This record gives sequence, structure tokens and C-alpha cells, in this order.
Amino acid sequence: MIIIIKDWLSQPLTKMYAPTLELLKCSETCRLNILREDFAKYMDECDPLKEFRNHFLIPKNSDIPFGEFDSKLVDLQETCVYLCGHSLGLQPKSTKEYVNKELEKWATKGVCGHVNVDDKPWWIIDEFVNGLCAQIVGAKELEVVAMNGLTVNIHLLLVPFYRPTVNRHKILVEGKSFPSDYFALESHLKLHGYDPATSLVEVNSRQGETFLRTEDIIKTIEEEGESIALIWFGGLQYYTGQLFDMKCITEAGHKKGCIVGFDLAHAVGNVELSLHDWGVDFACWCSYKYLNSGPGALSAVFIHERHAKNFDLPRLEGWWGHEKESRFQMDHKFLPRTGAAGFQISNPPVLQTVSLLSALELHTKATMKSLRKKSQLLTGYMEYLLMSIIEEDKVNSTSAAQYFQIITPKNPCERGAQLSIMFPYDTQQIFLELKRRGVVVDERKPNVIRVAAAPIYNSFMDVFKFYKYVKECIQLVCNQ
Ligand SMILES: *Cc1c(COP(=O)(O)O)cnc(C)c1O
Repeated sequence: MIIIIKDWLSQPLTKMYAPTLELLKCSETCRLNILREDFAKYMDECDPLKEFRNHFLIPKNSDIPFGEFDSKLVDLQETCVYLCGHSLGLQPKSTKEYVNKELEKWATKGVCGHVNVDDKPWWIIDEFVNGLCAQIVGAKELEVVAMNGLTVNIHLLLVPFYRPTVNRHKILVEGKSFPSDYFALESHLKLHGYDPATSLVEVNSRQGETFLRTEDIIKTIEEEGESIALIWFGGLQYYTGQLFDMKCITEAGHKKGCIVGFDLAHAVGNVELSLHDWGVDFACWCSYKYLNSGPGALSAVFIHERHAKNFDLPRLEGWWGHEKESRFQMDHKFLPRTGAAGFQISNPPVLQTVSLLSALELHTKATMKSLRKKSQLLTGYMEYLLMSIIEEDKVNSTSAAQYFQIITPKNPCERGAQLSIMFPYDTQQIFLELKRRGVVVDERKPNVIRVAAAPIYNSFMDVFKFYKYVKECIQLVCNQ
């Protein structure tokens, strides 16, 4: 599991990816060593998105339950190093205000809040977020609706979009997919009378490799496509951080007559998406990871315009998917709304919707293009610093220390913000030591730590501190 990094830092510049090159150029321009703290400070000062950090509430070291906390290791009054946006994004300062406003409306207007108010009547509350959601994923407003939880939406969308026949009943999925997605797929296969052992086809990485090759995905689609009803992939793999080529997978799937859908839980708010132009049939995502809308926040779905008026698609019906104009006439003839809205079931949870709204306003203001640009720099910087730990030790030729392997693709176009770091030993102790230093990351037992710098609130200094502490913790653990 130990990787030997050959000349990573001494590679000729032309062999480096664009974000790394840009970092090195910056370091040359400002004449600051990229491995030193003042470089991080300089990068933060130059950051065109730096203002956005001020729009978030960042927990202080003293506020976070660190267990065996040692105040000698960090300043309790400082903000923690929060690199867990892939799990739960931080709270925008505006969220409380938005939620309180609705609580106040409820307190003072009761049921009249639904219709008889000028500002955000509840009966159409989702319309304030759908357009912004659509912007984030590169879709038309008609194609997107915010509703329910993510796994609930996977189930709802598998009803119209998984239509197995005797000759075409398989589902193609990425190996090691998120358990909830796997469970949902498995239950629909069983519902239709198919055996997941034979009807669920997985694409896995090659022996000795840590992520999938696009060519292997495409090859499987070409070889087995005729028996595949549905291709369901995570847009960005939650464990390895690999960003899949959704355009390419969609095209290959369509060529073979398959329906193609994506779970964008780790992709939304993280990378740029063009769901409409890529021709993806359907997708869904949650908004509590990179979209910062709060624990258990609303999910949203995308259904391509080409299906907008296909009312023959079977669906689980509810009154909120019924045409707005005649919804309250309460008769029993279901008239579906056009587009994604026709798949709604219940009236939307207002507090969750405005919490999503407050976060989306920040993201659309920053724009995904700028966020992605900063994100690639932050992640490239993190990778560079981490690799320097191995490199330095190689130079010092100290003990044959056990290091780590980054199992995320190196190519910035094949990953988002997250780096997944695999250690050749149980990470429990490193994880604990990091926590004691105010570093919040995510541990996938037994030996992977997932780290993500969210460009909307993380700084280069956060990444630098992470590097400094990781180095310290590795030395501590390895020297025991
Ligand atoms: C986070 C995540 C989920 C979580 O599902 P919920 O229904 O929101 O609890 C599901 N799938 C993937 C791929 C995820 O990353």
C-alpha cells in the first residue's frame, strides 16, 4: 500500500497539471516558498472569492467536541480547520435569518402564510429555489425540482426510469457505490422479480489501481449495453473522489439504448455540471454536502426536457405533482405538471426550502466556474504539500517510514475538491490526533481519511494548517 513517488516534486514543469503549474508560478511571482505559511497567506490575499468565507459560521476549536482535547496543541479561540464539506457543509450566516423569517410568518399569519403574503407564499415556496438549483447543475428551470431526501428521490425516479424487459433488465453501476444507492437499486430489481446477483453489473477498477478507467466503463457499456436497462453512477465517487466523465458515459449509454442517470451527491456544488447539454436522462442530489444547506437538507432532482411531457411514464403520484391551477379543486383525476415538478408528491417543507435558498444564493453569486477554479488550486495545493512530506523524508532518507497513498485521480479534471488518503495502517490514531489539533476531516474505517477544501469557505491557510498537522501526526504515530 505504500507508494513510491518518483520525482514528483522535481518533475519538469511541462508534465504538471495546470493548477500545480499556476501555484508554482504564483510562488515564483511572489518569491515565497510554496511549502511555507506565508505563501498560503499570500494566496488568500489574492483570492477573488475570499469574501465568501465571511458569510459562513466556522466552528471554533473550543466549540467542537474533540474528546481528549489538548489546549496546548491549538488555540481554543481560533476557528477549527474544517475540511469536511463533502460530508456536511458549514452554515451560511444568512440561514438563521431566512428560517426565522418563516417562523415569524407562521407565528403571525398562521395558514394565511400559504397565500396571503407578499413575500414567498408557502404554496409556491419551491419556485424560489428551483431556478437556482437548475443554474448550479446546468439545467433548464423546468428540468429541476427540490423535494424530499436523496434516497427517497432515487426510489421515486427509479419508478419511471427503470423499466426492465425480459431481454433488457440489467442495471450498470460503479463498483463500491454508496450503500444507499446500492440498496435502492437492489430493492427495485427485487420489486421487478430480478436477482441482483445477476442483474446488477458492476464496473470495478483494475487490479492494483484505485479508481475506474473511463475506457473500462465504456467497454462494459458497449459489450453488455443491449441487456442494460439503466446506467446509474455516482457523478463523483464518494470514496475515491473520482469525477466520472458523465458526458461520455451518457453518450455511450444512449448509443446502446440505455437510460442514464446520476447520483450527484458529491458532484453538486463541487464541480461544473451541464446536465441538459450532456443529455443525462435524470439525476438527483442532496444539498447538505457542498451546497451547505444544513443537516438532512432537501434533495433535488433533474429530469431532462425530453421527458418533460412524457405523461405515460409511470410515477408515484401525489397532489403536488398535479397542475397548480386545478390542484385545489380536489377532484380525482391526476393531471401531471410538465417537467420535473410533475414528480412532486407532497407540499414542500418551508424551513428546509429557505435554508436551501440562503445557501444557493451564495453559490450562484460566487458562480460554479469561479468556485471550481479556486477548488482546483486548493486541491492541487493540498496534494503538493502532502506529497512533499514523502519527498522530504526520501531526501533525508530516514526510516523506511510507512506513508500514505492518495487514491484519488491526479488529473484535476477527474476529481473534485476531495482527496482520499489511504494509510498502510489503521487511521484511528491519526484521526484522533488530527481532531485534537482542531482538524475536522472524515474517516472511512479502517484506513482512509477523506479531506475536502470547500472553495466557498476554505482558505489556503486551512490547507496549510492541515499539512502541518498531518506531518506532525504521522511523525508521532510512526515514531511510537
Ligand atoms: C450522501 C449520499 C447519500 C445520502 O443519502 P440520503 O438519502 O441523503 O441520506 C446517498 N448517496 C450518495 C452517493 C451520497 O453521497
